[in-house]
Amino acid sequence: MRYISTRGQAPALNFEDVLLAGLATDGGLYVPENLPRFTQEEIASWAGLPYHELAFRVMRPFVTGSIPDADFKKILEETYGVFSHNAIAPLRQLNGNEWVLELFHGPTLAFKDFALQLLGRLLDYVLEKRGERVVIIGATSGDTGSAAIEGCKHCENVDIFILHPHKRVSEVQRRQMTTIFGENIHNIAIEGNFDDCQEMVKNSFADQSFLKGTRLVAVNSINWARIMAQIVYYFHASLQLGGPARSVSFSVPTGNFGDIFAGYLARNMGLPINQLIVATNRNDILHRFMSGNQYVKETLHATLSPSMDIMVSSNFERLLFDMHGRNGAALAELMSSFKQGGGFSVEQERWTETRKLFDSLAVDDAQTCETIAEVYAQTGEVLDPHTAIGVKAARECRRSLDIPMVILGTAHPVKFPEAVEKAGVGKALELPEHLVDLFEREERCTVLANDLKAVQAFVSLHGNRGKPL
Ligand SMILES: *Cc1c(COP(=O)(O)O)cnc(C)c1O
Repeated sequence: MRYISTRGQAPALNFEDVLLAGLATDGGLYVPENLPRFTQEEIASWAGLPYHELAFRVMRPFVTGSIPDADFKKILEETYGVFSHNAIAPLRQLNGNEWVLELFHGPTLAFKDFALQLLGRLLDYVLEKRGERVVIIGATSGDTGSAAIEGCKHCENVDIFILHPHKRVSEVQRRQMTTIFGENIHNIAIEGNFDDCQEMVKNSFADQSFLKGTRLVAVNSINWARIMAQIVYYFHASLQLGGPARSVSFSVPTGNFGDIFAGYLARNMGLPINQLIVATNRNDILHRFMSGNQYVKETLHATLSPSMDIMVSSNFERLLFDMHGRNGAALAELMSSFKQGGGFSVEQERWTETRKLFDSLAVDDAQTCETIAEVYAQTGEVLDPHTAIGVKAARECRRSLDIPMVILGTAHPVKFPEAVEKAGVGKALELPEHLVDLFEREERCTVLANDLKAVQAFVSLHGNRGKPL
């Protein structure tokens, strides 16, 4: 499988190189040159497979040429072996033909584990083979950091540095990062905000001299392997609900457009999907595009669903690429005008075509809490605020009651106690078994000034399994 850049100028890469690449050199994102397509018979024959076996069949074409089948199978078995629920991604029914796909049974209780548990293992496998080491530097406001640390803690060939804004992440989220120990794990609290952290990561990619030749790898949601891993659970959910003979719809709490883009790919790979709903919070650039063909940056608002607090959705470029007939030059122009002017619309036919599949809704904090309370009253289930946004959007935008509606349950409610308490249903919440003593565990973290040089000096001093690079 070869991968090409959405902006058409960077060299095509194989899977192994895409895994290590992050952004393409032309500023674009990598996508498969040709998407694999499965027949209905083939998909139907996967019914009843354990999750890791299904994952193997869905992802195999993407890694062909880079990872032998037997090795890939073993990696997948290990990856999904760490989940705490036998079904890996169980469906829970809320209402007639309405289901939540619970994606929060991984080690850090959010769907990001599906991708980052795999990414860590894939990186280590490829690096071992090449005899190389890498350094990961990432910024987090919450879920990504802990999932990345959990995903990389066993990696022999990776040192991971996660920057979070000092005193500005929730205690559960901080502890999920700082209580994991390893000579290759480094938590840094920056005396600044999330944007400062992100800026430092960006600047570190721009000038890597402090790494003395060690390669820097990105684990944010633009990494292709993360998207790839997320395609699997769309197939999994559909197969539980009568697919592929029957079409299924999905409502997806969305920030950077990674998770829902995986659903779009599943459909293009042959899975019958009737409708994809983009569910956003008040940071609604994607909803404004889907409802009014306006892609315009606005100011950032802090909400009760912080993992979706974004101004621009980085993975949306991958959909725009397809929307424009995979014309890299057109995309490069569009993205550069976006950077300069802050907004665009696409041609009417392209937008109308896109809307045949996608609907959208923006849900504010008050509606989020109302939905948590409503679902609790109706079912006894406590939803996390992101999932609640998905439920609200599903109920507002649903096209057909005959088609099963699956809402992606992106996080466990204990991760977001503020919203759950505001909704008045917080008392019943308990940490899952593997985290019951989270608040008693020892923490390890280094506080650093909001200063790029200080951070880079720290990385060069500790970037080789805690020793200097
Ligand atoms: C990251 C995250 C999202 C948003 O996912 P995208 O792929 O960025 O759209 C939604 N909910 C939770 C709980 C998350 O951690």
